[in-house]
Amino acid sequence: MTDTQPARTPRKPARAQKATGAWADGDRTPLNPNEVFKQADDGLNVRQRIEEVYAKDGFDSIPGDDLRGRMRWWGLYTQRKPGIDGGKTATLAPEELDDRYFMLRVRSDGGALSLEQLRAIASVSNDFARGTADISDRQNIQLHWVEVEAMPEIWRRLEAVGLSSTEACGDTPRVILGSPVAGIAADEVIDGTPAIEAILERYIGDPQFSNLPRKFKTAISGLPDIGHEINDVSFVGVVHPEHGPGFDLWVGGGLSTNPMLGQRLGAWVSLEDVPEVWAGVIGIFRDHGYRRLRNRARLKFLMADWGPEKFRQVLQDDYLGRALPDGPPVVLGGRRYDHVGIHRQKDGLSWIGTALVGGRVSGDILHAVADLAETHASGRVRLTPHQKLLVLDVPDEHVETVVAGLEALGLQPRPSEFRRGVMACTGLEYCKLAIVETKARAAQVVAELEERLPTFDAPLTMHVNGCPNSCARTQIADIGLKGMVVTNEAGESVEGFQVHLGGSLGAEAGLSRKTRGLKITADELTDYVERVATRYTEQRVATPAGSPE
Ligand code: SF4
Repeated sequence: MTDTQPARTPRKPARAQKATGAWADGDRTPLNPNEVFKQADDGLNVRQRIEEVYAKDGFDSIPGDDLRGRMRWWGLYTQRKPGIDGGKTATLAPEELDDRYFMLRVRSDGGALSLEQLRAIASVSNDFARGTADISDRQNIQLHWVEVEAMPEIWRRLEAVGLSSTEACGDTPRVILGSPVAGIAADEVIDGTPAIEAILERYIGDPQFSNLPRKFKTAISGLPDIGHEINDVSFVGVVHPEHGPGFDLWVGGGLSTNPMLGQRLGAWVSLEDVPEVWAGVIGIFRDHGYRRLRNRARLKFLMADWGPEKFRQVLQDDYLGRALPDGPPVVLGGRRYDHVGIHRQKDGLSWIGTALVGGRVSGDILHAVADLAETHASGRVRLTPHQKLLVLDVPDEHVETVVAGLEALGLQPRPSEFRRGVMACTGLEYCKLAIVETKARAAQVVAELEERLPTFDAPLTMHVNGCPNSCARTQIADIGLKGMVVTNEAGESVEGFQVHLGGSLGAEAGLSRKTRGLKITADELTDYVERVATRYTEQRVATPAGSPE
């Protein structure tokens, strides 16, 4: 320093940056309990212990890290002990919430099930899961009341027909979403099924991707029909002017408590290259993803820090070793992508899409659907990310027979708008994180609304969630409901919801707005939705056609 320079005020020492726990930083010291148990033993290894020890010695033989940790790698979560009030959820230790039974999630990537697979799930449901079966918003079927003693026989039955529960839960590549109408939709750009199958074969159950910072969700579809904006990685059908049909690449979407929509990398990916590019994106997540805080670990947080340009550069330079061609954006159609109703396939047959409230079916219903599909169609069935069920390949002469058969099972191909637009997560019935009841509540509200407003005919989505985790997508519904304890007029703490309004995906994708202060008790829900629907109808009537909105 010279005499003429002013003396500097000594700077405060910079606050030490906390390590993110990213493996790429070179230090793999585990920074939270999940990272500890994952590093101690790969989650995939628990399968052998389940078959050889826990299934023989019973629930009490399972140590905590396996029970509440690694068993997820095989689709098994302990379910909530019945009778515990939702208001106590946050105050109890995990072991106090644990029942001695499990939820088992069965992978059905792309939502595709053959006749044999549907019957296998139905038989497992009836023989080992008290007849339960719920279609989740990830195109899986979830069974409840499963005992660890039954798992070897359950896996034997599932795997005999090509199903599995491998990495159905846990910090892994979860079930891959695919269009439920892949290969049959007249307007699909490309059928993504071969890419889904290649990823399953090459990478699911592969230890190189079985210890991720958090879960990793994938969507591959030739149509923008499965919510590509809310997945960690999505490949959406698009036609490149030179290369032809392929996929637009999106990265970094996810909902939960910090919702973010995915972003385009601006790159075009051919069908053949999807598995390699998928492996590059998940590789970035494994190596650079944050592993210190669980609630900051999803890929969306890395994407928010890097931005799409840097992400693409790292993908190309460090993981693919080549540049991807630039590509056009996906064209978002104006049609409704919930797959419900009777629709002509490109081969002249029809698919019949049915609405069921909150995805709830049963082993008996699945058996009956299999019988219908075998007798009157090809036997192929698909599940949707909207918790709906489709029967494919129905010839014209059998359509009304299948419709009548499905309706008799409570699966409605011509549902009310309320039934069509509702989704509900697992909720208080089985989920240890839940604060409120969801599926039964949704069914009751739909039935009441159908009675009160029988002619209501506008699309209206209502997503009922038992807690802030948003498994049924609070932030992308017209009416998104986040379960919480609220105070009623009598000053009592009761089940209720924070209301979010105006979320959607597709052409006008945007996250819903939390209406500050708008909390309703669960008992007020029907009245509230009725008011919203009625006001909508009145305003629509009051706006003459052609008027500026
Ligand atoms: Fe459970 Fe909450 Fe997810 Fe519902 S949103 S399934 S209550 S974690």
